[in-house]
Amino acid sequence: MDKKKIKEIFHSIDRSFFLGKDERQYAFLNMPLPIGYGQTISQPSLVLKMTQLLLPTKENKVLEIGTGSGFQTAILAKIADKVYTVERIKQLMEVAKEKLDNMNFTNIFYKVGDGTKGWKEHAPYDRIMVTAAASAVPDDLVNQLAKGGRMVIPVGTPNLQELKLITKSDDSVINIKSVGYVRFVELIGKYGWKNR
Ligand code: SAM
Repeated sequence: MDKKKIKEIFHSIDRSFFLGKDERQYAFLNMPLPIGYGQTISQPSLVLKMTQLLLPTKENKVLEIGTGSGFQTAILAKIADKVYTVERIKQLMEVAKEKLDNMNFTNIFYKVGDGTKGWKEHAPYDRIMVTAAASAVPDDLVNQLAKGGRMVIPVGTPNLQELKLITKSDDSVINIKSVGYVRFVELIGKYGWKNR
């Protein structure tokens, strides 16, 4: 799917629907907003940029790490064939799932757990989107990326990360490109930051 079409789909999804009642009024702001449990919904311009980098198509099986509010999940599920989404905080996942169910999505599969390990049972994935800050690229995610696949992941310190676009060629050669600086909440898990 081209970037213009991705942008149209992005604009078709109401960000305010994924926010709590106190934050809803700020949905139009191009900034991250709290979603509870110390987590955030990312700024909309970054959600769009990362989706355009990921470049999902309607045939793709996508793995998303960090369901959060479910906003990014909805965009991916409108574009791709199937979305497997993993969130470590059960309460956030329950709220996100209820909202996504209300939108009548039938192509989203949910797991509460440590996304640094991916979701091996359904691998490989054509696209992997990580929406929390990794300390390093988890090997399990690279291994679960399909040949010809693309992964977008912020990697760095808890305060600042480089957004990486990782591609795997048809003969499994990995290429990693930095595409700018971002600041995400920590990816916490076996192959991420420790829960402090
Ligand atoms: N994409 C989300 C949205 O549209 O609302 C925002 C995601 S928020 C910036 C990052 C999320 O990653 C948080 O909900 C956090 O709990 C989750 N997270 C952190 N470490 C994780 C892990 N190891 N596995 C799964 N989710 C994780």
